[in-house]
Amino acid sequence: MTANPKQAVVIGAGFGGLALAIRLQSAGIQTTVFEKRDKPGGRAYVYEDQGFTFDAGPTVITDPDCLRELWSLSGQKMEQDVELLPVSPFYRLAWEDGYSFDYADDQAALDKQIAAKSPADLEGYRRFLAYSREVYQEGYVKLGTVPFLSLRSMMAAGPQLARLQAWRSVYSMVAKFIQDEQLRQAFSFHSLLVGGNPFATSSIYTLIHALERTGGVWFPRGGTGALIKGMVALFERLGGRLFLSTPVENIASEGDRITGVRAKGDFFPTDMVASNGDVVHTYRDLLKGHARGAKQSRRLAAKRHSMSLFVIYFGLNRLHTDLAHHTVCFGPRYKELIGEIFKGPELAQDFSLYLHSPCITDPTLAPPGQGAYYVLAPVPHLGSADIDWEHQGPLYRDRILDYLEARYMPGLRSELVTVRHFGPNDFRDELNAHLGSAFSLEPILTQSAWFRTHNRDDVISNLYVVGAGTHPGAGVPGVVGSAKATAGLMIEQARAG
Ligand SMILES: Cc1cc2nc3c(=O)[nH]c(=O)nc-3n(C[C@H](O)[C@H](O)[C@H](O)COP(=O)(O)OP(=O)(O)OC[C@H]3O[C@@H](n4cnc5c(N)ncnc54)[C@H](O)[C@@H]3O)c2cc1C
Repeated sequence: MTANPKQAVVIGAGFGGLALAIRLQSAGIQTTVFEKRDKPGGRAYVYEDQGFTFDAGPTVITDPDCLRELWSLSGQKMEQDVELLPVSPFYRLAWEDGYSFDYADDQAALDKQIAAKSPADLEGYRRFLAYSREVYQEGYVKLGTVPFLSLRSMMAAGPQLARLQAWRSVYSMVAKFIQDEQLRQAFSFHSLLVGGNPFATSSIYTLIHALERTGGVWFPRGGTGALIKGMVALFERLGGRLFLSTPVENIASEGDRITGVRAKGDFFPTDMVASNGDVVHTYRDLLKGHARGAKQSRRLAAKRHSMSLFVIYFGLNRLHTDLAHHTVCFGPRYKELIGEIFKGPELAQDFSLYLHSPCITDPTLAPPGQGAYYVLAPVPHLGSADIDWEHQGPLYRDRILDYLEARYMPGLRSELVTVRHFGPNDFRDELNAHLGSAFSLEPILTQSAWFRTHNRDDVISNLYVVGAGTHPGAGVPGVVGSAKATAGLMIEQARAG
């Protein structure tokens, strides 16, 4: 143990790690963050190439208040570091038969489109919205930042979960209200954004609809990377220290207490450690040598893990002004394709894509008149499909670019200035993600709340976990919420001496 009772180490500078570090530092706990990569952000890394700026991961920023709170803890204002721009429409949803739906914040515009597509579904949509709002209140506002450390806390939430029929899947709940198949897809795909299969994940995840309708969809000026930069600036202003290119090799312990971490051959003593790294990596690799590490990593590895992603970042010498900022391009199959993405055993021939065109909102992310883009396809993780990504990656990239050129971005190939891709092997090797999963543990009911990795370890009382693998789960609001749950426990421990 160190002499100073108020020191903490956070392993990893993803959204969850940084939000936690800001909370700890704001509470007067001297906090040091060690990040493996050369830039902070984790999944929200940034690539810069030939005047283009590519956000690597999160682009749909929701619930801005959960971010503002990080600044207000120390009486500061987020606007000092970050400017959030509204995104409209929230998303454009497009199908191969030419139908497209602008998923807008404007109720009248939404109603008009639903009525035009399937008049009978207007009433059903209203009931769905009311349900989604109720789930949002119960599941997000009330329980989203509560650490589920005991079975009793889970049981206490049981009656609400039962009343909201949380055992049903997202799709089945949407289908209860809405009959048109394309509208069912439009209101059920959201759980994929946090790694959840709409046909398997709990209907609790329909709350994303209400979350977006309540708090809006935003994009930071300068990209998500600018938000990460702002969080780092805040953390450092508060006196926190961030070491980049510093992978933690080991969490050291004496009995059932953590004594410090080892990185680059040095030992850093501390009173408390929180890992923002992948949960399997944390227990299997960092806690190697401690019986708890072996036992817990076996348990976690045996759980269901979310799918991976194949992401292509590309810059074009022309901005396609007819695109929306966010487009979801639905392929010919929905349920069957999602089944193959989550279970494998092969890479499907067809795909559904998410296309990011940030220069529609912020043209500064590319040279004047040009466009920075990324397109992603959900793909099986390394445990459910045996794909030789070294070989398949470039072929898959070309198939996706050809598809985009044919349907959404005419001339794409001749306009290409720069292109790179990031796939399951990269999630595994760059981010230490178990099986190359893009979202950690799959958010099914039996892996949620108390059933998810606890924010404080059950055996080692000064070891904490934050980020996508713990409660409430993946997504920026999710991991920022997990930081609040974890920080509450750590601050309590620090104050107890
Ligand atoms: C392509 C993509 C698009 C997405 N889009 C959205 C979106 O639009 N909206 C949304 O809300 N969510 C989105 N998500 C989900 C969201 O990005 C993630 O759930 C969230 O950012 C994960 O944050 P985290 O705190 O768990 O940490 P991570 O981002 O996973 O960061 C963990 C960090 O720990 C570091 N680390 C690991 N091991 C070590 C070690 N041993 N030592 C030191 N450092 C270590 C890693 O390098 C990494 O930087 C997207 C995800 C992806 C992949």
